[in-house]
Amino acid sequence: MEKIVIDNKLDPNFKYEIAAKPGGENIKKCFACGTCTAGCPVFHVEHEYNPRKIIRMILLGMREQVLSPMVIWLCAQCYTCSANCPQDVDFSDIMFALRDMAVKEGYAPPDLLEKIDKITTAANEFRRDSIYAILKEGDISMDKRYG
Ligand code: SF4
Ligand code: SF4
Repeated sequence: MEKIVIDNKLDPNFKYEIAAKPGGENIKKCFACGTCTAGCPVFHVEHEYNPRKIIRMILLGMREQVLSPMVIWLCAQCYTCSANCPQDVDFSDIMFALRDMAVKEGYAPPDLLEKIDKITTAANEFRRDSIYAILKEGDISMDKRYG
């Protein structure tokens, strides 16, 4: 016999709220091709973070399941997903909206965004210094400026 699962926590308005946010206009056009996930640098180091899956969960109304996990804070806001989407879904801006909702609805501490900005700056500084260090190890003379 077919089993029917009823989840009382599903929120049918969730996708409309996201669609009303800047960048969320095209979310209902997603046809689940997975191009966003395939090009996402975060997915390649953490498979729990899956843009395609997050969009399906939004469309199904899984508000709490989308807003509460730690993985939504991993997005690097690189816009690769938005640039590659064949349906013009702007997932990077959708992630901005999700984070904003997560803070406003008490799923995350209010100062988390500020802390993540500091981590991003520190990570970029580490990347810059590491690349310069590797290049300085070589025998080829290079200047770090243009001109
Ligand atoms: S690339 Fe666009 S259409 Fe494809 S799954 Fe991602 S959001 Fe949906
Ligand atoms: S903006 Fe976020 S979700 Fe999109 S590709 Fe970059 S890290 Fe992945």
